[in-house]
Amino acid sequence: MRFYSTNSPQVTVTAEQALFNSMPADRGLYMPTPLPVLGKSFFDTIAGESLADIGFALSKALFGDEISKADLEELTHKAFPFETPVVDLEPGKVSVLELFHGPSLAFKDVGARYMAALMSYYSDRNEQEVNILVATSGDTGGAVAMGFHNVPGVRVSILYPSGRVSDLQEKQLTTLGGNIQAFEVDGSFDDCQAIVKQAFVDAELNASLSLSSANSINIFRLIPQGFYYVSAYGQVCKSNKSIIFSTPSGNFGNLSAGAMVQQMGLPVDHFVAATNLNHIVPTYLKTGAYSPKPSVATLSNAMDVGNPSNFPRLAHLYGDNYDRFVDNVSGYFYDDAETQAGMKRIDDTYGYVACPHTAIGIMGLEAYLADSKKDVYGIALATAHPAKFKPLVEEVLGKSVEVPDRLAVLADRPKQSIRIPAEYDAFKESLLQTY
Ligand SMILES: *Cc1c(COP(=O)(O)O)cnc(C)c1O
Repeated sequence: MRFYSTNSPQVTVTAEQALFNSMPADRGLYMPTPLPVLGKSFFDTIAGESLADIGFALSKALFGDEISKADLEELTHKAFPFETPVVDLEPGKVSVLELFHGPSLAFKDVGARYMAALMSYYSDRNEQEVNILVATSGDTGGAVAMGFHNVPGVRVSILYPSGRVSDLQEKQLTTLGGNIQAFEVDGSFDDCQAIVKQAFVDAELNASLSLSSANSINIFRLIPQGFYYVSAYGQVCKSNKSIIFSTPSGNFGNLSAGAMVQQMGLPVDHFVAATNLNHIVPTYLKTGAYSPKPSVATLSNAMDVGNPSNFPRLAHLYGDNYDRFVDNVSGYFYDDAETQAGMKRIDDTYGYVACPHTAIGIMGLEAYLADSKKDVYGIALATAHPAKFKPLVEEVLGKSVEVPDRLAVLADRPKQSIRIPAEYDAFKESLLQTY
């Protein structure tokens, strides 16, 4: 399997290069080539297997002989010691695919852990130390910190905006120690991201450290996210109904992963792109005009993205053809008041406690089922555990939400972070000192 850039399809690189470089020099996005087309029978054969075994089967199809089967089996099982269950809300019609059973309680564990396992595989063989830099507004940092913790040959620096992540999110970033270093930046998420971007173009820094990124433009975060769409298919295919997925979206990595596995032959009838007031893509689907905007802050803050970094990839998967795109994807969006009302109604109607992102996914699914009048199996992706947004969920539902042990244990651990001003030079100096 090779990887080309969406901006220059004639030039390809190896999987290892795409993994460690994250972004092609021409600022396009890497795409796998050839994308294996596996057909329905392949997916029917692996239906019902564990997430790890589905990941193994698809990894074999993608990597061929590049990585031995034994190594692929080991790394997929190391990455996925948890499942992604489909939970029916209205049997055969409305369901959720719970993606929050990993260590950080958000779907980002799936991509981060596979990437970590693959990096550790390559760096074992190359004996070079890799330095991952990542800016986070909350969920990505936790998944990356936990995914890469104690991975030999990899050191991780996480930049987060001081005072702008939830207490539990901050604990996930700052209490692990070892190869994980948190930088608490006196500034916004945009400042953190600007510092990381500058680090990648700093020739002096890159000469002394091997830098790599773990954000969602990395194709190896997206590829494993396809595995749980397959897992969901396996759990509901006995119903013989067509399947549609509703994906709560921000940077559109999750939906791109679904579109990619659809092109590999997974039988998916349709996707719903569900967003908050950052509705650039639903607006594009309605009008054909793609107009990125500065992001607006909402309650579903992991989806506060005004210029989705994976949009070009999603468009590319549909041949940069608006009609094909609209044939496969419908958009819906909700403001904060609608999100809160939705969370309450979902609890009242189905007895299901959803985080604000998941609620938006369920509402998008319901709206599409009503508008299309299709008799299909609808699956909304549950992207985070409600306990990650405990104060909000408790206020909206008027009842307490239990925090799973793996999150609760962090509460008493001491925070360790390096506090820096929102200036590149301060970060660089501090980074070089810690190595
Ligand atoms: C990151 C995130 C999203 C958005 O996913 P994208 O792949 O960026 O579209 C949705 N919900 C939660 C809880 C997230 O952490």
